Amino acid sequence: MLLHDERAQLVDYCHRMQADDLTVGTSGNLSVRSGQHIAITPSGVPYEDLTPESICVIDLDGNKVDSDLEPSSEVPMHTSVYRATDAAAVVHTHPLYCTALSVLLDEVPPVHYMIALLGGPVRVAPYARFGSPELAENSVRAMEGRYGALMQNHGATTYGDSLAKAYSRSVYLEWVCRLYHQARLLGEPNLLPREEIDGVAAVLGGYGQTVPAR
Ligand SMILES: [Zn+2]
Repeated sequence: MLLHDERAQLVDYCHRMQADDLTVGTSGNLSVRSGQHIAITPSGVPYEDLTPESICVIDLDGNKVDSDLEPSSEVPMHTSVYRATDAAAVVHTHPLYCTALSVLLDEVPPVHYMIALLGGPVRVAPYARFGSPELAENSVRAMEGRYGALMQNHGATTYGDSLAKAYSRSVYLEWVCRLYHQARLLGEPNLLPREEIDGVAAVLGGYGQTVPAR
């Protein structure tokens, strides 16, 4: 089976994504790139029913290479991120706090230094319908100089040079959005200056380790 290990890894991370409350129902989609191929979650399959065989393999243009099921509706966004960046994995989710801020803001404010793991204050890509080339285009533009973006009235996407990195960036992004939400309930949060975020980003450059498989 083409990309067996990548497919198995995606199933594992889909289960983590559910356990971590990063998405709701069958929404959200994950992919891993290997050379000219991309392993990506199928459209609309409950995460608990996923097996390595049900993960789809497509090429960088989005054509099906090895898949019995229809790939995620967000194929254009995944392929666009791979074409525009050095990503080896892309994680797209609908986490509550990321999505809440996406309906209110143009950018996630630098309320905590961990936002540096995303490359700096994370932008919100203007709204376009799910699965559309416009959403892919808006998202990639919003990711310039960052490892992720929010999608207005929709959710969040992050990428990395491994699925572990891409995934942990989604977890940190949701945490920073939640922190901002909590702090904002109590008053006007103090924000960190851009130089401090850049300084922390330089220190955290290689932050994050791959946890051995359980
Ligand atoms: Zn979505």
